[in-house]
Amino acid sequence: VLCASQDFDFFYFVQQWPGSYCDSKQGCCYPITGKPASDFSIHGLWPNYNDGSYPSNCDPQAQFNPSQISDLTSRMQKDWPSLSCPSSDGLSFWSHEWEKHGTCSESILDQHDYFASALLLKRQSNLLQILKNAGIQPNGQYYSLDGIKAAIRGGIGHTPYIECNVDPSGNSQLYQIYVCVDTSGSNLIECPVLPRGTCGSRIEFPSF
Ligand code: 5GP
Ligand code: 5GP
Ligand code: 5GP
Repeated sequence: VLCASQDFDFFYFVQQWPGSYCDSKQGCCYPITGKPASDFSIHGLWPNYNDGSYPSNCDPQAQFNPSQISDLTSRMQKDWPSLSCPSSDGLSFWSHEWEKHGTCSESILDQHDYFASALLLKRQSNLLQILKNAGIQPNGQYYSLDGIKAAIRGGIGHTPYIECNVDPSGNSQLYQIYVCVDTSGSNLIECPVLPRGTCGSRIEFPSF
């Protein structure tokens, strides 16, 4: 063939707030390496189509191989920890993300570059600092959804999507932030389509 086929349109780069993952019905377990920093951490880099649908599990042959990312492991433990129970070293979370999502952008990013790209995007987006600069802090207070979105738009130049979950009292809280990335995996772009879901106009930003 003359050129690799384009098998998706853009990526969602999704970061989670650990305080909101833990402060929900499912609860959490800290990684075996200890409590993560009070910072957003990576959930995944997800190939998507412009119509809102997405491919998944695209190549059963391309199993996750930890030896291909041995140079990234210590940064992954810090920036891409798994908070699910029981406590883990993150390998099963990374394996799940690679096999479900990463295999669908394999024509562009091999396994090493897929994880390396996500680590770079986290640095490039710097969400917690952007929010703090706008006076939006993880202190259990409530902030307007529009204010959160405007702060991030001001910081990265593009409008994010905010996903909420609920705390044990049923209050809506900031769970995940989605930003969009071009098919190279390196440049933030305006989202072609946003996921669906509701937050409420004011949402809690729990401490962690
Ligand atoms: P949930 O049902 O919790 O929203 O999503 C479950 C999983 O489905 C996510 O962790 C992710 O793997 C996948 N997923 C949900 N929404 C999207 C989406 O809009 N795009 C892509 N690529 N994956 C998604
Ligand atoms: P998704 O399919 O939604 O991309 O990934 C969610 C899967 O990863 C679930 O099976 C979930 O249990 C697992 N997982 C492991 N660690 C984490 C974590 O720290 N956050 C989230 N959201 N899911 C995790
Ligand atoms: P609009 O697109 O007019 O800003 O918002 C339409 C509806 O979508 C409103 O109910 C608003 O609360 C909701 N909404 C807007 N942006 C987001 C977002 O980033 N996340 C979520 N969950 N809902 C949003």
